[in-house]
Amino acid sequence: MIDVKTAFFLWVIQANTLAILLIAIWLHARDQKHFLWFGIGFLFHANGLGMVGMRGQIPDFISIQVANTLSLVGFSFWAKGLAALDRRPGSLFFLLPPLLWIVGNFVPSIREDFAFRVSLYNAGASLGFAILAVIASRARFSTSRDRTLLTLLWGMQVIAGIGHIVVVLHLRPTSFADDFFGMWMGTFVVICFITSAVILAKITMDRSEEQLQALVRTDPLTGALNRRGFSEAYQRLAETSPLDMLGVLVFDLDHFKQINDRYGHTTGDRVLQEFAKVCRSLLPQRAVFARTGGEEFAAILAISEPRDAALFAETVRLAFADRSFPTSEAPISVTTSVGISVSPLHTANLDHLLSEADLALYTAKAQGRNRTSVRAGNRTVTVPPSREESPLEEVDRQADRHVAILNRISAVAHKLND
Ligand code: GH3
Ligand code: MG
Ligand code: MG
Repeated sequence: MIDVKTAFFLWVIQANTLAILLIAIWLHARDQKHFLWFGIGFLFHANGLGMVGMRGQIPDFISIQVANTLSLVGFSFWAKGLAALDRRPGSLFFLLPPLLWIVGNFVPSIREDFAFRVSLYNAGASLGFAILAVIASRARFSTSRDRTLLTLLWGMQVIAGIGHIVVVLHLRPTSFADDFFGMWMGTFVVICFITSAVILAKITMDRSEEQLQALVRTDPLTGALNRRGFSEAYQRLAETSPLDMLGVLVFDLDHFKQINDRYGHTTGDRVLQEFAKVCRSLLPQRAVFARTGGEEFAAILAISEPRDAALFAETVRLAFADRSFPTSEAPISVTTSVGISVSPLHTANLDHLLSEADLALYTAKAQGRNRTSVRAGNRTVTVPPSREESPLEEVDRQADRHVAILNRISAVAHKLND
């Protein structure tokens, strides 16, 4: 069996290596703060314990009071890291482990007795593990299996810590060499530590993988899904939709080339981003929205009847036309044409829906742009575009507009249900 000092030394080296590794990972992924907090936690914990191991070579106050405080501060940072992993803020409760130790050391009978000090430190460490277990049990990250495993591991360390306190208070050792249970306890803690580190590594790897997957499915300019994400999301919606029909809407911005040519690509990009924003803010939560080409977007909605899709298209079309974009000259507004196709859910086919919606879009363009056309059977029906609107209060205008859209759709509704 290696002696206590060697064990401390090995642990200090190992934990410092881990700390450097974690901080290096954070330097490459600054938004993932949990790596930083975990790394700092290991620095404090390891070097605090290292100073405990130097008992006799450095002043007692440093190797006892300061060293154990630093080691317990490690728990505060780990808790902060675990909360950050769960995208939650820190809490003052995380400072309880070192605080308990500091307060306990003001009591002379505890401060001057080895067994009491070991018990006090273990109480602080158990509190630290309990905080970690509580955070893990309430967390939303990863799978419930991983969270339960972490909670159990840290819960076991709480129990081991309390067991150690009971044994120490019973046997009253006077030095680490005397504290056999402490050696076993240390070994157990290290095993649990490594296991929890492996689980945490798996959780962060899963998360990186998820982020990568999301990136592969997202258009970087607008944040909308790209084509790949679009077909996958269609599949999910088709399998889980509670409604009987699907509506596919294709949007193509009008005379977009002229905007680029006249005001520059940056203005064009801003228009594309704003269009995506307008769509996202108006889309029902379960709807799928994607950028399918340069200035072309598509949405898939679960609907009860074709007019639902037309209503959404008209709402987006008018809301977008309302936006104005600053340019080097006067502010401009941009319009969009929309093509819609619908299908009963059980016979829906994405390729067919898209080509039908494209046909409707051609019609909308051909009829003058800035309008919505719906493919109904073998015909294409265009929603009559609105007349000039009178300037009203915003709330009245929105309500009036909604009624006006419904009226315009109603005028052609009988043709939509063929
Ligand atoms: P129409 O009303 O018939 O749709 O005319 P249009 O000018 O919108 O159609 P066209 O297909 O001729 O032009 C599309 C333009 O979209 C051409 C291209 O320069 C521009 N575009 C494509 N991708 C991007 C992009 O990522 N950013 C910007 N700013 N422009 C883009
Ligand atoms: Mg186009
Ligand atoms: Mg266009």
